[in-house]
Amino acid sequence: MVVSEGRRGDAKDAASWSRRLRRVRLVLTVSGAFFLLMGFIGELSPLQALVGFGVISAAALIEASGEPSTESVARGREDVRMHPRDLIIEAVISGLPDPAIVLEHDSIVRTFNAKALEIAPALARGQPLSFALRNPGVLEALRRAADVGAELRVEYFERVPADRWLEALIAPIAVDGTARGQLLLMVFHDMTPLRRVEEMRADFVANASHELRTPLASLSGFIDTLLGPARGDPQARERFLAIMKDQAERMARLIDDLLSLSRIELKAHIHPETAIDLVTIVRQVADALQLLARDRGVAIEIDMPPCEMMVLGDRDELIRVFENLVENALKYGASGKRIDLAIARETTADGDEAVVSVKDYGPGISPEHLPRLTERFYRVDVAESRAQGGTGLGLALVKHVLQRHRGRLSLESTLGSGATFTVRLPIARSTAASEQTC
Ligand code: ADP
Repeated sequence: MVVSEGRRGDAKDAASWSRRLRRVRLVLTVSGAFFLLMGFIGELSPLQALVGFGVISAAALIEASGEPSTESVARGREDVRMHPRDLIIEAVISGLPDPAIVLEHDSIVRTFNAKALEIAPALARGQPLSFALRNPGVLEALRRAADVGAELRVEYFERVPADRWLEALIAPIAVDGTARGQLLLMVFHDMTPLRRVEEMRADFVANASHELRTPLASLSGFIDTLLGPARGDPQARERFLAIMKDQAERMARLIDDLLSLSRIELKAHIHPETAIDLVTIVRQVADALQLLARDRGVAIEIDMPPCEMMVLGDRDELIRVFENLVENALKYGASGKRIDLAIARETTADGDEAVVSVKDYGPGISPEHLPRLTERFYRVDVAESRAQGGTGLGLALVKHVLQRHRGRLSLESTLGSGATFTVRLPIARSTAASEQTC
């Protein structure tokens, strides 16, 4: 329905008059009764009574029109009458994506948006902020912002209702062009995800430095020995040089893995677009690792289809994935003497997938370690990993490469019976129809 401006204006006027009349109805009733009585008992003439009633009614109506119009706003438990200016402020802050509170100069809550209740559920209009938000740092910053009349930023940690880092931005605001600092606007921002990333980065740098420092310390120790006490000892020199070579190779492997990880992370959101045959890749990896398998007395049993299985991928990265998984099976599961390497096609609700599994019959992994194995530098047994030339980055690399390829890794293990690492990759759409037989 279309309502013209004029009609809408009339409707508004009528509503306003009825509101005013409602507000002064008591005054009108009492004064009407008084002047009627005065006229009736003859104290006033009917004209005097009528004029008197008219003057009192007009005064009451003028007074009512001067009052700010109020509106009842229900807010959960409270029902507060708000000034129109507060309604405007509330309308503005309710559009903010973050929690926001508007306060009086003396930290009394004037209004807030619904999101603010998430960080301070006990917030209530007309109450001091400290009833709902007790962090001393925030309250102190609020006092300072009110005193100085300048913007302030404060970061704080809270445990209730959940562990999180919050940043509060406090800005004095001018209302109706009055002196700056009349009200204080607080806007909160959840810094927890950023803090977590910072913590992870710090942990990563600490771990990487530690991993590099260990072989470096060993190298410089052997150099000192060779320059000092073992200077004229050819047998010791041979032995030490072999260890030094080992340590230098370990450092090189670590730097190599770190660089690969950072390169893959840089292009995490770029999905490879080249169609490559996964069967060829897996076969190449198996062939390349046959020598190592023979050295360790392990037989690699291969179960592969006699056809191509095309996926969109980066050849080198996928080779790295299967090398890591088969090498791990050889490093940690060699006692089982056998590795099953299989590739098959599976149809799922999301489309066809290539499924590659690497199964060993070694000691297996106890369940509490499984969810953490793809974390950087996480190892079940650090000493064993180092003894095997591990860097603790292999499975993290596998996970990141697979994410970039829209694939996934799953692992299953029963302690004492070995472990199975399974890779799933979507089969390239264009070849899915032509490869029905595979
Ligand atoms: P690493 O360089 O130490 O091998 P990875 O990230 O490749 O690092 O593997 C992390 C840890 O997972 C290894 O240190 C090892 O403890 C465990 N692990 C990986 N594969 C196997 C496996 N097939 N059997 C038993 N444990 C394994």
